[in-house]
Amino acid sequence: MSRGLPNIIVTGTPGTGKTSHCELLAERTGLKHISVNDVVKDRECHEGWDDEYQSWIVDEDKLLDAIEDEVKQGGCIIDWHACDLFPRSWIDLVVVLRADTATLYDRLTARNYPEVKLQENMDSEIMDVLLQEAKESYDEEIVVELQSITADDMESNVERIEQWLGQWKKDNAS
Ligand code: ADP
Ligand code: MN
Repeated sequence: MSRGLPNIIVTGTPGTGKTSHCELLAERTGLKHISVNDVVKDRECHEGWDDEYQSWIVDEDKLLDAIEDEVKQGGCIIDWHACDLFPRSWIDLVVVLRADTATLYDRLTARNYPEVKLQENMDSEIMDVLLQEAKESYDEEIVVELQSITADDMESNVERIEQWLGQWKKDNAS
């Protein structure tokens, strides 16, 4: 399948900076930010609300149907804390954002996460869950792990992805 522009997943444990990165990237590159959180909520791709976790129970089939046409056209930045559900053929780059535990703890506490959700997300980050999921779901060559602690990190990460995009455009020019 050929696309005029690539699709990028920005993934990572909640609080690692996905949405911040996607917004800045979208602004800089003109690519389209697809906030899966918003799609799940606005297009009702869920099977109800989980009270304990304070989050929607995602219906992955509905979610894929909801974004398929847009993603297949290319030029999307997908913002979601999972990456194993998207078909490999849709995706050109997988960015896994990382934060240390102290930083992540502060960010999630500021969000008033319920204790069980806070603990689960901290464990997930410590155990490299999203990085493993990315490596198992996609070719390792397209998976990039980036640190997201400081504003400087975010700036250099976004620059790096912009450079990657420039190279992709050259390589795929017809
Ligand atoms: P996610 O979408 O992965 O849950 P957000 O982008 O919402 O994460 O970021 C969570 C919080 O952490 C926000 O307050 C954001 O400003 C802050 N943050 C994330 N990444 C960075 C970073 N690299 N430098 C400084 N603050 C950051
Ligand atoms: Mn987010």
